[in-house]
Amino acid sequence: MTQIRVVRIHNELLGTYGDQGNAEVLAFRAKFHGITANIIDVSYSDPLPRNGNIYLLGGAEDSAQLLSLEALRRERALEDAIDDGAVLLAICAGFQIVGNSFWANGREVEGLGILDVASVPGKKRCVGEVKTKCSILNLELSGFENHSGVTKLSSGVQRFASVSTGFGNGDKKTDGALSGNVFGTYMHGPILARNPELADLLLTRATGRQFSKIEDPLATKYAHIAARY
Ligand code: GLN
Repeated sequence: MTQIRVVRIHNELLGTYGDQGNAEVLAFRAKFHGITANIIDVSYSDPLPRNGNIYLLGGAEDSAQLLSLEALRRERALEDAIDDGAVLLAICAGFQIVGNSFWANGREVEGLGILDVASVPGKKRCVGEVKTKCSILNLELSGFENHSGVTKLSSGVQRFASVSTGFGNGDKKTDGALSGNVFGTYMHGPILARNPELADLLLTRATGRQFSKIEDPLATKYAHIAARY
């Protein structure tokens, strides 16, 4: 596969903390690997294409999060694409949306049920730098979090990463969840700019291809600076 479609969902609603940049990092890394990644921006009012290879959901404050959920619920396009093997990276509000339920604007709402997790309001807002260890990558990741919801994984659901600094899912131990090609996390950054190896993993999952390691001194330098916080 030399061409992939990266679907950036509801950029106008889910763009908090720069998560839209994840699409650009994927396209940039894909180019290194000889793959052309076309970024498809899908607005709240547009139908979601079912033929994407990687789907991106970003963070949002509560009202925008609810609008995005409403639009995703109009069709089962995201669920269908995932069933067909597409990759999903869902950050913070996006992670909560794809769970079974979450709270927004003081009320509990049903999520899409793609990940078997549930979010509830935490005692205090979780804000700050996050460091985690991601077992599938065997890699330290760094990010930034800012959320009031905390998330509980149903038994048997795999965490995305273990937390060494920060709150993650709210227990200060686990961050996010992982099921097949669906990755949920609280880490903004954007996460793929801070941790480009994760972008490569998503590209591998989407294309079935293994890539040689990219020497990118600037990305490595940035990752080291970010990891100091
Ligand atoms: N509105 C959600 C919360 O506060 C998600 C916030 C975000 O995406 N940064 O928990």
